[in-house]
Amino acid sequence: MRGELLVKLADEIGVRRCGTEGAARAADAIADAFRELGLEPRFQAFPLLRFDPEEPELWIDGERWQAGPCMYAHPGSCEGPVERLADGRWAVGEGRLAPSIFGKGPIPFTALPSTGGHLATRPTAFLSRADSDRLREGMHARLVVRGEWVGGISERNVVARIDGASPERIVVGAHYDSVWHGPGAIDNATGVEGLWRVAERFAGRQLPRSLEFVAFAAEEIGLIGARQYIVDARERGSLGDVVGMVNLDCIGHGEKLELLCSPPALLDRARVAVEALGLAARYEIVTELGEAAGTDHVPFVEAGVPAMSILHFPYEEYHLPEDSTALVQEELLTDAVDLAIALVESQLAAPVARA
Ligand SMILES: [Zn+2]
Repeated sequence: MRGELLVKLADEIGVRRCGTEGAARAADAIADAFRELGLEPRFQAFPLLRFDPEEPELWIDGERWQAGPCMYAHPGSCEGPVERLADGRWAVGEGRLAPSIFGKGPIPFTALPSTGGHLATRPTAFLSRADSDRLREGMHARLVVRGEWVGGISERNVVARIDGASPERIVVGAHYDSVWHGPGAIDNATGVEGLWRVAERFAGRQLPRSLEFVAFAAEEIGLIGARQYIVDARERGSLGDVVGMVNLDCIGHGEKLELLCSPPALLDRARVAVEALGLAARYEIVTELGEAAGTDHVPFVEAGVPAMSILHFPYEEYHLPEDSTALVQEELLTDAVDLAIALVESQLAAPVARA
């Protein structure tokens, strides 16, 4: 039933950090929800190196400041004067302090791409934007980072397919994992609820092309589930059948309606759909070609698949414990789902040419 999956993921299961029991329960719940629609989901498993962070300890001029953990940061203790780096971050000896890009607090986040491609990151912590603004070069900092690396774990994308007349397929996606201490109601239980509603719309229909609904794992540590989907399609020689992609990420609360999209021809279709649904009257619409955004459509774009992410973004509770179901606005969720359905219909009928 509508809204059930959202509540199950965000309220009942809560934190769904990848590789944990919460994420495993979420994958099972999503599979069950697909079965309710008469679909037969499968799990696409892949190996995962999990990281269990602890809250970083940060002292500035003898005063304790709040800090958010950085995934895959090396444990360590660093002390010395704060030094400003050219990329907007700060150095404390070999350690790093990074401003949070979104949200009102010091959010947990990944350090990519500043790691140079290696998973291991220097001892690093995130500051709120406000704290980053009051930090000054020469202040004395002491940063203690702790965390544990856990191997031998598997993660799972949940994939439900509707076979159409052609093996060419459109992928509809949303990630189900959340961050450290984050119940992830908006990010991204709303997207998974939206994914299910799109599946509900198409289940049982005769389609000219196939559809795959994919709940992605491990998005929050670098789009790993979506990347694994592409790797798997390439290995099996079916990547050429993936002719389009629509992703839902944070669709129940933010200020603006963001459409991150490539190539431009798909963005043109999105603009037509936005117009037809009257969304421009209700939201400030932000459109970007979005090849470098941190959302699950990006690995598809990199593989030459016309793809887009739909988001209501940004919002202040992003990646924080306050990201709860109390924030969800049904009208925003419905609008994003209607837009996703329009784009799926359009690509089912005639895919945009691959880049
Ligand atoms: Zn997200």
